[in-house]
Amino acid sequence: MSNLLKSIFDRNPNEPEFHQAVDEVYETVEAVLKKNPKYQKAKLFERMTEPERLISFRVTWVDDKGEVQINKGYRVQMNSAIGPYKGGLRFHPTVTPSVLKFLAFEQIFKNALTGLPMGGGKGGSDFDPKGKSDAEIMRFCQAFMTELSRHIGHRLDVPAGDIGVGGREIGYMFGQYKKIQNEFTGVLTGKGQGWGGSLIRPEATGYGLVYFAQNMLAEQNDSLKGKVCLISGSGNVAQYAMKKLCILGAKPVTCSDSSGYIYDEDGITQEKIEFIMKLKNEKRGRISEYAKKFKSAKYFDTDRKADHNPLWAHKADCAFPCATQNEINKKDAANLIKAGVKLLAEGANMPTMSDAIVELMKGGVNYAPGKASNAGGVGTSGLEMVQNYSGIYWTREEVDSKLKEIMKEIHDSCLKAAKEYGMEGNYQAGANIAGFVKVADAMLAQGI
Ligand code: GLU
Repeated sequence: MSNLLKSIFDRNPNEPEFHQAVDEVYETVEAVLKKNPKYQKAKLFERMTEPERLISFRVTWVDDKGEVQINKGYRVQMNSAIGPYKGGLRFHPTVTPSVLKFLAFEQIFKNALTGLPMGGGKGGSDFDPKGKSDAEIMRFCQAFMTELSRHIGHRLDVPAGDIGVGGREIGYMFGQYKKIQNEFTGVLTGKGQGWGGSLIRPEATGYGLVYFAQNMLAEQNDSLKGKVCLISGSGNVAQYAMKKLCILGAKPVTCSDSSGYIYDEDGITQEKIEFIMKLKNEKRGRISEYAKKFKSAKYFDTDRKADHNPLWAHKADCAFPCATQNEINKKDAANLIKAGVKLLAEGANMPTMSDAIVELMKGGVNYAPGKASNAGGVGTSGLEMVQNYSGIYWTREEVDSKLKEIMKEIHDSCLKAAKEYGMEGNYQAGANIAGFVKVADAMLAQGI
């Protein structure tokens, strides 16, 4: 390991997810650092790994039984070189400073790739929304925002959703912010369409992911038509990725939640996606219900002790992991190659482990990292910010065409940066390099 990485890891002990993300970026930007001594002298890579601010707070709330509950709350304000901090809030029991620092670090480069002026941030809580009543969710969101509100602002730090935080939670948090600050601003994105939200924002991450894959295939004179697709997850990203895949003539055959996954050999059609949306967004039920409703589907329980996930072993052309980090290991990567998969684009953040990425690339799989392929979500959040600032609201068609443009730009700038450093066709290297250079130049210009 290089001395530079070692010193970063020593400064941030016991943070495996953060180390993994830093290592992954460093491996590909090392060539850029070597070529540009000014970046090295200003210690830009080291500076990017140190949050500008890491806020930690207590969230106290009362459950439906009247019992007092305590959770941890955080906001990582990672980098503001190119704009206000921007990034989602995650409510999940696995949330730790390490997980949020990895996500905030990724967000720096992702946001830079969108071409919009947004810095990197991330936040959240170890609160588990599973099984909570609507009233409990509201009380938790209000308590969380009571603390967070003093650290954010529409020109300072603009949070949004992530795992466990959707339109409902954004609504409760926005309401609380407004009461405390006594002002109506675009302090959060992912708002409802009647109160400052942007059209297409709910669809944006999933749609953007599929647009990115479309661009990758077009590069090979190919298209999504008729492609069999493996999807993991069944939340916001997976739902709209499957929908767009259907619209473009592809055939999604799997999706999952933490309990298990379904395989539908007839394909998950638009009508079946409506069922999944109702099941997940309104009834908050389990994906196993899908196999009870549609006879063409089989349900498989998650086996936590297994060394691989059988979801990734079904015969397919493309794979879109849209669940969470580190869900594809080396064995899964080998299975994907055997299953015939030729393209993998990440809808989640860091769903593929480092050795699995190497395996996929060796096996000839066209691999797109999340910071490029899932950037449509935050890109459309950026469009929501522009609409909030200007007070002018765009139509569905206008936002969708801007989203398409953003994904094409990201795709092209990945390829351009990779080519410049002799790694032609490598989206992973291209995304890291293009994102890094943009932020590094801004930091350089702004001095120490
Ligand atoms: N949580 C999303 C992401 O990982 C969206 C963030 C945002 O819209 O600010 O990029």
